[in-house]
Amino acid sequence: MITVVVIGGGAAGMMAALEAASRGAAVSLFERQSRVGRKLAVTGNGRCNLSNIHASPAFYHGGDRAFTGYALKEFGPKETLAYFKSLGLVTAAQADGRVYPLSDTAGSVVDVLRLSMEAAGVKLHDSCEVSRLEKTKTGYRLIWQDGSLEADRVIVACGGMAGERFGGTRLGYRLLEQMGHHCTPLRWSLVQLRSDNPGCRSLKGIRADAGVSVRSGGKTVASSVGEVQFTDYGLSGPAIFEVSRAALERTGTVVVLDLLRDVSEEELVVMLLRRARNTPQLTLGDAFVGTVQNRIGRVLVAAAGLKASASIVTLDERTSLKLARLAKHFEFSVTGDMGAANAQVTVGGIITSEFSAETMESRRCPGLYACGEVLDIDGDCGGYNLQWAWSSGRLAGRSAAEV
Ligand SMILES: Cc1cc2nc3c(=O)[nH]c(=O)nc-3n(C[C@H](O)[C@H](O)[C@H](O)COP(=O)(O)OP(=O)(O)OC[C@H]3O[C@@H](n4cnc5c(N)ncnc54)[C@H](O)[C@@H]3O)c2cc1C
Repeated sequence: MITVVVIGGGAAGMMAALEAASRGAAVSLFERQSRVGRKLAVTGNGRCNLSNIHASPAFYHGGDRAFTGYALKEFGPKETLAYFKSLGLVTAAQADGRVYPLSDTAGSVVDVLRLSMEAAGVKLHDSCEVSRLEKTKTGYRLIWQDGSLEADRVIVACGGMAGERFGGTRLGYRLLEQMGHHCTPLRWSLVQLRSDNPGCRSLKGIRADAGVSVRSGGKTVASSVGEVQFTDYGLSGPAIFEVSRAALERTGTVVVLDLLRDVSEEELVVMLLRRARNTPQLTLGDAFVGTVQNRIGRVLVAAAGLKASASIVTLDERTSLKLARLAKHFEFSVTGDMGAANAQVTVGGIITSEFSAETMESRRCPGLYACGEVLDIDGDCGGYNLQWAWSSGRLAGRSAAEV
């Protein structure tokens, strides 16, 4: 019987372990944290956006995004969701293609994987950090603080360094570097952006549905639509994560929010002037009532250099246009981000040309496999990163168990 060791009990590692065990291998899984799937349990704001039905190489980045093609073809979103269904997990796809468990709880995904591994006889070593890998005559030796184990094949599924708060670590890169592999410089993406716009602090805690664009050197370099959260340091939320890569790739970028996507600037001017005419008892602070949230309206008025306490009748065509423009183009200069600890994904990783895209096996060390975020692949926001973990994990597990 082939012995397979999986290092890392995250999304990719659990999928690899299950697949290898289902093909008859004797599988042991090592996880440095006290339980498996710790990062998985916090994904998607605790809801776990586990896939995206549109997943294809176009949604991935890295030295060679085409590397994802085979794994996504063999075990793409359709196959992944059918597989989860077979494990007892019911999922639901949103109109935009994002898939969540029907329970809306990331813990459900962790639970079905953990229970299925138990049922499949995967031997779990938790709280056990593998610190070294050595080549033996017939396979590999893994070494941890108080022990070692030999196996025919090893799958490194240690994840990336992003999301340190939930177990992100550089250990996987080191293990693979010990075996002669190379790592690109590392950055991170899908992260909250810092801004010095005082509007952020005033709007702390507010969520808005907005159009988001990133401007650099007078050009729009990225855009998204969806939820934006205002925080005391800047901007967060899925629509911000989506453009964070573009916003951080260059210096001097500006995030521009369209806070009233379905109303044109001209229409808004007419609405504001109508309000001034029809309800003269109001103040300028009430100008946006009924359009955006009241706190946002007051911040826009302040940003236009107007006094919220002034009478609304002071609103003329020029000031209405200024307000309408601000609501449609509210600018936040980007001063940085919230760092790797808070980021969702690592940009960069172990160079993929050193592995086979058809098997996930190392071209340098036969019998050694890698999958998931430890490789130089990162996906867009929307379930693509977990889909990569499932697709590559499945392929690694399948190949490692092959006699
Ligand atoms: C807050 C947050 C939210 C996210 N939300 C989403 C989302 O909704 N949808 C999506 O697609 N992606 C999301 N992501 C990204 C996604 O979680 C990761 O891309 C994915 O988990 C990567 O899977 P992985 O198995 O490669 O790594 P991980 O899930 O990080 O698992 C690696 C595991 O290996 C263990 N390990 C590392 N080194 C060792 C060692 N030496 N010995 C033993 N164990 C080791 C780690 O403790 C960890 O448990 C999110 C990320 C974060 C941080």
